[in-house]
Amino acid sequence: MGLYTVSKRIARRIWSEGTIIRLEPSLRGMLKIWYAGKRHTCPCCHSRVRRFLTDSRLCPGCGSGPRHRLQWLYLEKEYHLFGRNEAVLDIASWRYFQRYCLRKTALRYHSMDIASRWALEGGDMTALPYKEGVFQVVLCSHVLEHIPEDQAAMREMHRVLAPGGMALIQVPLQGERTFEDPEATSAEDRERVYGRADHVRIYGRDIKERLGRAGFDVELIPYAEKYDEMDRTLYGLDPEETLIIGKKH
Ligand SMILES: [Zn+2]
Repeated sequence: MGLYTVSKRIARRIWSEGTIIRLEPSLRGMLKIWYAGKRHTCPCCHSRVRRFLTDSRLCPGCGSGPRHRLQWLYLEKEYHLFGRNEAVLDIASWRYFQRYCLRKTALRYHSMDIASRWALEGGDMTALPYKEGVFQVVLCSHVLEHIPEDQAAMREMHRVLAPGGMALIQVPLQGERTFEDPEATSAEDRERVYGRADHVRIYGRDIKERLGRAGFDVELIPYAEKYDEMDRTLYGLDPEETLIIGKKH
């Protein structure tokens, strides 16, 4: 067990979640020093580290995983998000991204979650607490696979976007067809069928049609392929992670 896992366990035993969130930047500053090295550079927090942590390959400096780093690269290098002053809705945000948007950019940043302690607003994705057409960007990373009524969630993302707006969506994607088993109703069933007790389906590439039915023009972008193997290792990217871009007319 590495220093990261041990210190996380100790921190959780002695501090409340609120205290950990408050102390997080200083705690991560120490981890960054401990894991300093040349093998990887995090595109989000620019930490240079000898390894990413745990099976989830988390950055010691900011807690990003491969999917966050790919999302960040796209938003920074292709969409130039951080130089804009658009209204962004981040569904189920991650903390470093939220902090960065609020402190370092002119974005009008909103985060919403059904349960999280740090999201700025609470709410249900199938009935978003926002008016029609108020956001230029909606971010929704690894959320839809948890939502039974995903069609309603997709329609809601479309509704709150302004014309010309973009939803950037990520889900675990496997094969062509989406797989749902209506008989997998208990946590044990879902663990067995989908590999995760809190997932309700495994999306295939036909997520494109599902999003299309909600009104989006959809493009599946194998964005990690834009980077060669050396850069994928440097940034800690998953070559399989696909970005799903849904545009509103
Ligand atoms: Zn980082």
